[in-house]
Amino acid sequence: MTFTYNAPSSLHTHSVYCDGSDDIETLCAAAFQKGLGAVGFSSHAPFLAKRTKTPPPQTQWHMRPQDLGAYLTEVHDARRRWAGKLTVYAGLEVDYMRDIAGPADFAGYRTLPENALHYIIASVHYLVPPRGEPFTVDGSDEEFENGVREGYDGCVEDAVNAYWDAEEALVEEGGFEILGHVDLIKKNNANEKYFSSRSEWFVKRLVQLADRIAAAGITVEVNTGGLNRKKTTELYPSPFFLTLLRQRNVPVVITSDAHCADHLDGCYPQAVEALRAAGYLEIRPPFSE
Ligand SMILES: [Zn+2]
Ligand SMILES: [Zn+2]
Repeated sequence: MTFTYNAPSSLHTHSVYCDGSDDIETLCAAAFQKGLGAVGFSSHAPFLAKRTKTPPPQTQWHMRPQDLGAYLTEVHDARRRWAGKLTVYAGLEVDYMRDIAGPADFAGYRTLPENALHYIIASVHYLVPPRGEPFTVDGSDEEFENGVREGYDGCVEDAVNAYWDAEEALVEEGGFEILGHVDLIKKNNANEKYFSSRSEWFVKRLVQLADRIAAAGITVEVNTGGLNRKKTTELYPSPFFLTLLRQRNVPVVITSDAHCADHLDGCYPQAVEALRAAGYLEIRPPFSE
């Protein structure tokens, strides 16, 4: 059987509604120019419900809550404008922080009578330590080191385990279509700076998570964003993790985590090659129309 990839799409994209540099129309036009079949918008979702005493982080890179309505309207307007040429989807990249934020906060937006949310990419960007403030694992080495020092008494292994705990809890809660950059925790770990990705405890967590993803029937993205922005030297997930997913028949979708129009299909050939190497024979879109 030959490898088939018939409907390239770009479903993980950021626009001026969060920390992307291009507007909705520019991104649609670029997606069409690049020959993509579909583009989906996945702005960093605002923090909505306050479920615990722990306040959600204040950031510059999430959409403001008051912009969510305008965002959905603008994306749906584009969907109507581009109908027949390019399929446009309205999505969100939703942060998961146990008891603070998650896909459940947006369930009501899926059933709006008009301009409803089509899909959710669920991502763990933050660790919520037993002590101290939530901190991001998507930032600088300094942020990571400070967070581990203050939140986990400097124990990297505890922090990394907390990341995998969060991924497992997210998979168990569900309520989303695509699991975002599943091994983001490696972002600060270039050259195995903080932990060994071959150590027994780490590999055990990957295998356990792959089992749970497969059992839950969740689609995992193969995200080229780290490569596009030169933040990592490999895709999310790693080749090893991808092999674990393939062995369990976990469906995947290639995404670029684009923050500008140029990156909409950035490094897709590398993703296709990695999937082929892992033994994938086919990539289907995770949803249609
Ligand atoms: Zn993300
Ligand atoms: Zn993203």
